[in-house]
Amino acid sequence: MRTLGLEVRTRQTQGRETPSPVERKTGVVSTMAGTKALLTLENFINGKFVPCSSYIDSYDPSTGEVYCRVPDSGNEEIEAAVEAARAAFPGWSARSPQERSQVLHRLADLLEKSLEDLAQAESRDQGKTITLARTMDIPRSVQNFRFFASSILHHTSECTHMDHEGCLHYTLRAPVGIAGLISPWNLPLYLLTWKVAPAIAAGNTVIAKPSELTSVTAWMMCKLLETAGVPPGVVNIVFGTGPKVGEALVSHPEVPLISFTGSQPTAERIAQLSAPHCKKLSLELGGKNPAIIFEDANLEECIPTTVRSSFANQGEICLCTSRIFVQKSIYSEFLKKFVAATRMWKVGIPSDPSASIGALISKAHLEKVRSYIKKARAEGARILCGEGVDTLSLPPKNQAGYFMLPTVITDIKDESCCMKEEIFGPVTCVVPFDSEEEVIQRANSVKYGLAATVWSSNVGRVHRVAKKLQSGLVWSNCWLIRELNLPFGGMKSSGIGREGAKDSYEFFTEVKTITIKH
Ligand code: NAD
Repeated sequence: MRTLGLEVRTRQTQGRETPSPVERKTGVVSTMAGTKALLTLENFINGKFVPCSSYIDSYDPSTGEVYCRVPDSGNEEIEAAVEAARAAFPGWSARSPQERSQVLHRLADLLEKSLEDLAQAESRDQGKTITLARTMDIPRSVQNFRFFASSILHHTSECTHMDHEGCLHYTLRAPVGIAGLISPWNLPLYLLTWKVAPAIAAGNTVIAKPSELTSVTAWMMCKLLETAGVPPGVVNIVFGTGPKVGEALVSHPEVPLISFTGSQPTAERIAQLSAPHCKKLSLELGGKNPAIIFEDANLEECIPTTVRSSFANQGEICLCTSRIFVQKSIYSEFLKKFVAATRMWKVGIPSDPSASIGALISKAHLEKVRSYIKKARAEGARILCGEGVDTLSLPPKNQAGYFMLPTVITDIKDESCCMKEEIFGPVTCVVPFDSEEEVIQRANSVKYGLAATVWSSNVGRVHRVAKKLQSGLVWSNCWLIRELNLPFGGMKSSGIGREGAKDSYEFFTEVKTITIKH
């Protein structure tokens, strides 16, 4: 595996925890597990790769084998990162937006030059197809830096006169300080950079904690920071588990802001730990996203898009469709065509460019996703294709990988856990509906409110339905087309706050109102 030109080397010594001076400089350490070389990551604190006293195993989802060791950081590493971020803050926050913008542009260029290496690494680490990593994850990570490098130059403050009092009022925005950024495993570099870019563009210094399941591309990005001109201590990346290093970050009194993307139970814990410090919180959480398909929908476009919205990235995108409501008059036709189109989606090893679906993230997650299908069966639902119905064929060396066929469930009640809970895998439920009013009520009957899609050629109906859906995002006759300037985020249990050009800027800065009598 190439990690930005630095090959992983093998060693004859076993259980070695201390890196050599060369390894310390490059951030690449190699150890032997049996006869296999393991990639060993290090934390990135104050512009340097720093070894950790203990490590956790990270698995290749396509084989089920350990291939990487991730630092198992804790309080000590967070203290060091806070010290570095605190020291870097005065200098970085004093730079002009133009100066910071140039640094972000350079980092975007460097990431773009390494696109293929990063895509290969993301695909291996996460299990996603190489095609998706090449066309979505890494290009979007590059775009995140370019976008915030540009948008930071265009914010203005408010100003108003109060003539009768002889006063002028204006607002000032200033970076908050040290930003704590916690990201999930499904879109590793994409979601991490969606936080790092606006945070540093606004003048904050950051401590980021990627998911312990997918840490490799974040560590690769660290190798580019110095060349891009990011001063030591501005971006610190500390690896490890949520309960250990994640909680150490969230609880630290000198980290006044936490931007979190992940699951709702983790968000609850983060909110509890942040409450005593009144931290600024942005929580981007899960979804149980409906697709509503009216009888006047263009099925030629709707069916392939809805297959993609259900199963892209193995169904492991917070915006994936998992409840499909189809108007009764077209229900049978839709179901037949939808199942046929789903069966065309090839499950294959992540490095296969013809695969549409790769491996799920972990054995535990695969078992969780499968358990929902068992529950659906026990409730009397019908599985139309996929798990337990069709046969999955894989090369021998991938038999222990975490693969699963895209699965369509029907004849299922709205009250079933498969229709209420986020499964976060390649599973979708299809059910019929009669009227507009009825389907809005059913679509809104879950605790989540992240994204919805509405398929209809009646513009009036699209506006009516979009307005009534309890959902932070509504796509009509399309899916996943993003305008980064506009707010992104969910309502109800899908989160608190929004991200986007203006929203991220407001979150990563504190506003002050100044009144001057003249
Ligand atoms: P998760 O909540 O298990 O973990 C997310 C991150 O939080 C990881 O880095 C993890 O190590 C860390 N973490 C876990 N426990 C912690 C704790 N006690 N304190 C601090 N940090 C902790 O979520 P996941 O399984 O990695 O990701 C899947 C979830 O993320 C799904 O629910 C999905 O819908 C959601 N998600 C939401 C969005 C969005 O933008 N709304 C985007 C992607 C994923």
